[in-house]
Amino acid sequence: MDRVRLYKEKKKIAIFSVIVNTVLALIKIIGGTLSGSAALTADGIHSLSDLAASFSVLAGIIIANKKAKDFPMGLYKVENLVALVSAFAIFFAGYEIAKDVFFGEPMKITNLPVAVTAIGLTVVITFLYSKWEKKKAIELNSPSLMADAEHVKSDFFTALVVLVGVIGQYMGYPVIEKIAVAVVIYFIFHSGWEILVDAIKVLLDASVDHETLEQIRKILEKEDMIEKINDIKGRNAGSYKFIYLDIDVKTDSIKEAHAYVHQLEEKIKQAIPEVEKVITHYE
Ligand SMILES: [Zn+2]
Repeated sequence: MDRVRLYKEKKKIAIFSVIVNTVLALIKIIGGTLSGSAALTADGIHSLSDLAASFSVLAGIIIANKKAKDFPMGLYKVENLVALVSAFAIFFAGYEIAKDVFFGEPMKITNLPVAVTAIGLTVVITFLYSKWEKKKAIELNSPSLMADAEHVKSDFFTALVVLVGVIGQYMGYPVIEKIAVAVVIYFIFHSGWEILVDAIKVLLDASVDHETLEQIRKILEKEDMIEKINDIKGRNAGSYKFIYLDIDVKTDSIKEAHAYVHQLEEKIKQAIPEVEKVITHYE
C-alpha cells in the first residue's frame, strides 16, 4: 500500500473511531442520567476518555502532515502532548465518579427499559466495531489498531458488567452496581495510565519497540550490499517512528552507495508503514 493511501485509510479509521466513541458516550451518559444508573453514567465517562484518546490520534495524524517553519523536525509530538493532557482529564473523571458513587447520595434506577436499551445499543456497537477494526488492523499491519480493537472488545465486556450491575441494582442489590462501577473505574484508570506512560515515553524519546528494531535487522540481514550492521536505533514521535541506521556498504563509489541507501530506506518504509523517516550513516 502506498503512503498516500495509507494516510487516507488511517485518517478514515481515526475519524470513524471519534464518531463511534462520541455516539457511545452520548448513549451511555444520556441513558445513565435518564434511567438513574450510576454504572451506566460511569461507563459513559469511560467512553469520554476513549473519545479523548481517539481524538488525539486523529489530531496527530492531521498535524503530523503539516509543516511549520519554526518546527523543522515536524510537529509529530503534538499528538503525545494532547494525549498527556487527556490522561489527566481521564484521572479526574475517574476520581469524580468514584467520589459520587461511593460517597455521594445513592442513586435509584428509575427507568429500567431506558438503561437496558442503552446498554444493548452499546453492546451491539462495540461488538461490530471491534470486529471491523481488527480486520483493518490485519489489512494495514498496524499494531496500534490491533491494540485498539482489543480495547473496544474490553469495552464490550464492560457493557455486559454494567448490565449485570443495573439489573442487580433494580432488583434491590445496590452492592452489585457498586462492584460494576468499581470495575469500570478500574478500566478508566487503566486507560488513563496507559495513555500517560505512552505519552511520557515518546516525549522523552524512548526507543521504539524491540519488535520493530528486530524487523529492520531482518531486512538488513537479507541485503547483499551490506557488509556490516553497526547500529540500529529509533525513536517515536506521535504515531510515527524515526529510524537511525549505521551500516558499512560493499562499495567504494559514493554515488552507488548513496543510491543504494536511498532504495534501502524506501524498502524499510514500505515494510513498516509507521516508519516516517530512515536516516542512514554509511561507509
Ligand atoms: Zn474503553
